[in-house]
Amino acid sequence: MFSFSSSSRSNMDVVMCGCSLQASLQTSWVNEDSGRRFYRCHNFKENGCGFFRWLDPPFCPRAREVIYGLKADFKNSKDEIHELKYKLLKKELETKSKEAKKLRNELECTKKGGLFLHFVVIVVIVLAMKLLI
Ligand SMILES: [Zn+2]
Repeated sequence: MFSFSSSSRSNMDVVMCGCSLQASLQTSWVNEDSGRRFYRCHNFKENGCGFFRWLDPPFCPRAREVIYGLKADFKNSKDEIHELKYKLLKKELETKSKEAKKLRNELECTKKGGLFLHFVVIVVIVLAMKLLI
C-alpha cells in the first residue's frame, strides 16, 4: 500500500501515501516530539488516506529537555516582540494624535485670521464707497 523510492534530486527518500501522491514531510512541534520529522498523507487536510510515518527516531530525554527550553525561550521572545510592537504603536499613535491636535489648532487660528482679514477688506470697501459717494 505505501512505498519508498529514491529521488534523483536529493538524498531523501520519496514516500508515497495511499493516495498515490508524494507524502508531505513535516516537523512536529507537539511536546515530546518537538523537532521530530514525519511524513503524512498529502491530502491530510481533506481527510486523505490517513498515512503517517515518523522519519526521525524518538529523541533522548536530554534532547527533549533542550528543545523544550528552546521552545520556551522562543515563545518568550515572541511575546516580548509583540509587547514591544504594541508599545511602539501606542507611542506612534500618541505622537500622531498630538500632531493632529496641533494641526487642528493651526487650522482654527487660520480660520480666525481669515475671518479678520475678510472683516478688514469689507471695512476698507465700505470706507472707499463712502469716500466715492
Ligand atoms: Zn494519502
